[in-house]
Amino acid sequence: MPLQPVIFFGHGSPMNAIEHNQWTNGWQQLVADLTAERRPKAILMISAHWYGPGLKITAQPHPATIHDFGGFPPALFAKQYPAPGDPILAAAIIKQLQPFSVTADQQWGFDHGSWSVLCHAFANADIPLLQLSLDSRQPADWHFALGQKLAFLRQQGVLIAGSGNIVHNLAKIDWQDGPPPPAARQFADFARTALKQRDWQALINYQQQGAAAQFAVPYPDHYLPLLYVLGASTAADPMIITNDALSYGSLDMLSVRFGA
Ligand code: ZN
Repeated sequence: MPLQPVIFFGHGSPMNAIEHNQWTNGWQQLVADLTAERRPKAILMISAHWYGPGLKITAQPHPATIHDFGGFPPALFAKQYPAPGDPILAAAIIKQLQPFSVTADQQWGFDHGSWSVLCHAFANADIPLLQLSLDSRQPADWHFALGQKLAFLRQQGVLIAGSGNIVHNLAKIDWQDGPPPPAARQFADFARTALKQRDWQALINYQQQGAAAQFAVPYPDHYLPLLYVLGASTAADPMIITNDALSYGSLDMLSVRFGA
């Protein structure tokens, strides 16, 4: 079975789910070759929007599409992503991730961090999809280590994906889509340099970027999915970057794939 890549998607506004724009084109291009024999057997998604105490994995046969936002048009609330779950794979992952303790979850479903991207990347919604939660009690290096632990899934045909934003500050959104504030640009530049140098330690220790990190990552939920993707990558993986730009001033849309 061909090795699956591992991908971080910068998801940005939920409206991307019902638009076709430069970002959604970028996501599609990033996975365009994952068809036929390269088609993932399943997708394991680490979404910014499942962030809370405890480590859980969706284990239902048919998880619901969750509309976890407010103030958007009815068309977005009507959007469904009816991919199946995979309770057998969930159980296998729980076993193989030990000593990490993962709970089989029956409550969560697919949040918009998953489906706003996957409805473009894998529009048929016919690949089994699982979500792994972000344990809010854990430090950055723990999330990276869990990403490393997940890497075995790539050999088993599972596409590991993270969905968040490297810069994500909703309080500083500029709906006029003007130039990014200097602190956003500074952190985005730091992250790009570290990515290109494969300096994962710098990205794990992002808080050392001081005021720029406080602006770009006021809350870790959207940043942490990147660390899973870095953890599951290997030095041999080619790196492909797309959507290399900030949106609405404080949303970094950069998406990155590791692996041919
Ligand atoms: Zn988000």
